[in-house]
Amino acid sequence: MEKNIFQRIIDREIPATIEYEDNEIIAIRDIAPSAPVHVLIIPKRAITSINATAEADVEIIGRVFLVARDLAKKFGINESGYRVTTNINSDGGQTVPHLHFHLLGGQPLGRMNSAQTSGHGTASPYRGILREAGILILCAIGLAIGFNMMNSKSLSWVKKEYEKVTASTSDLDKYLTTPTAPATQPQEAAQNTTPSSEVAETTKTDTTTTSAAKPTPASEKPTFVAEPGVVKEITYDQFSRLMASAPYYLIDARGSDKYAEGHIGNAVNFYGAEAQARIPDMLSNVPRDRVILIYCDGGECELSHHVADVLKQFGYGPIFIFTGGWAEWKTKH
Ligand code: 5GP
Repeated sequence: MEKNIFQRIIDREIPATIEYEDNEIIAIRDIAPSAPVHVLIIPKRAITSINATAEADVEIIGRVFLVARDLAKKFGINESGYRVTTNINSDGGQTVPHLHFHLLGGQPLGRMNSAQTSGHGTASPYRGILREAGILILCAIGLAIGFNMMNSKSLSWVKKEYEKVTASTSDLDKYLTTPTAPATQPQEAAQNTTPSSEVAETTKTDTTTTSAAKPTPASEKPTFVAEPGVVKEITYDQFSRLMASAPYYLIDARGSDKYAEGHIGNAVNFYGAEAQARIPDMLSNVPRDRVILIYCDGGECELSHHVADVLKQFGYGPIFIFTGGWAEWKTKH
């Protein structure tokens, strides 16, 4: 059976702005908000609507309301007021057959529970048709935007165009303790949540440099000079040199599935499609006294640039994007 849109968001096949997530529930921003705050709280379990709920779902549905309570507080609407509602089947206005709850607020929402009526108190069929047509169009636009963002050849009217600057040798040299030959075998160390302090140690203990890379006396270490907002693209050789003898923090911008299948050295995983929503919460892990190295699949993959763009907004730099990415790395290791 074809997956519905929320299942695809849960499975990370389609991007969404995630406001909350645990093992059983995900909360995302509605793609076509009906109010300043419009979050969809979605149990991950495959339940089509309230009609399909069972005794076993009681707890999870209860927890949905706790998540709604916390999100209302997070968005500052808990005092002014908000609404939590779920639609069931066509008369209820349900368009996605996966149980979800709308958290709405941020403005007076008016009275509810009355059918859309004509002047005589009967539901107007045209209103219903127009509403459904509107929802269908919005869903189609949402789908188109979603697919377009995921497609490496996506249209520029939706995709952000990044300025692509290639790093020169001098851009790199100032961060290198020793101009070395490329690293050959990276060290597998940190996991997804590795704190930066542990990552920081890897450059001191890294055994991946070639025989040309002799241990560098501390006195030879160049002082790290931050270059906030500088984002440049680097080749495999430049990437290897930085890995071998610069203080670095390495980010894998691919999805968590690909990261779990394999990644470069001690990379941490920041999925580029969620960069805008997630990175701000993860910044405490990202050191400011290291060059930031980012890669994704290679080719036309833009996920690295998404991550770089957010880090740049927070004043990180220099940021170097290894354009060959995982594809090139794999061919050489
Ligand atoms: P329903 O009409 O089924 O109660 O609610 C479905 C909601 O999902 C709608 O408010 C609609 O705007 C939202 N929606 C539909 N497609 C997407 C999507 O791809 N991403 C997000 N974030 N929301 C969506």
